[in-house]
Amino acid sequence: MKKGLYPGSFDPITYGHIDIVERALKIFDRLYVLVSVNPHKKTLFTKEERLWMVKEALKDHGERIEVLTSETLTVTHAKNLGASHIVRGLRVLTDFEYEFQMTHANRNLDRSIDTIFFMTDNKYSFLSSTAAKEIARFEGDLSDFAPSFIIERIKGKYRTDKPRD
Ligand code: ADP
Repeated sequence: MKKGLYPGSFDPITYGHIDIVERALKIFDRLYVLVSVNPHKKTLFTKEERLWMVKEALKDHGERIEVLTSETLTVTHAKNLGASHIVRGLRVLTDFEYEFQMTHANRNLDRSIDTIFFMTDNKYSFLSSTAAKEIARFEGDLSDFAPSFIIERIKGKYRTDKPRD
């Protein structure tokens, strides 16, 4: 069975992430979606909120997906789950530099785990969790970014919380 692991902050999950999940499901029999906890990255949503939103957004994508969270290294998690590949998405050229470094860092840690990239649909290449949060802050239209229940939660954060970044 071919298993892939898709790690990310998912702060929050967007249609761009979902597009990558759908592409990965055409290659992998089982896809683990890993909500990562990076102590150096400030997130708008807590780990529990991000986990819940990812599960909810992917609940109709079938039983081959499992959503989990981890505070260990991605390669360690991939190995423990028996995943051969880390899945990542590419939007624009500026993603490449960061992904290039991460891929080599992960490869150095464990040569048996490789990284596979999917290019998102054109219509999602402008889309990022950061942009969604910026637009929400100024009450712009977010309907192209994420499912409506996510948009409501982003807006809710800006109504009740002081933004953390
Ligand atoms: P991280 O903090 O690990 O980069 P993100 O949630 O920002 O977490 O991104 C996780 C992965 O999903 C990355 O590989 C990123 O390039 C990809 N991604 C994010 N948004 C999109 C999008 N709109 N289209 C395709 N891939 C995306």
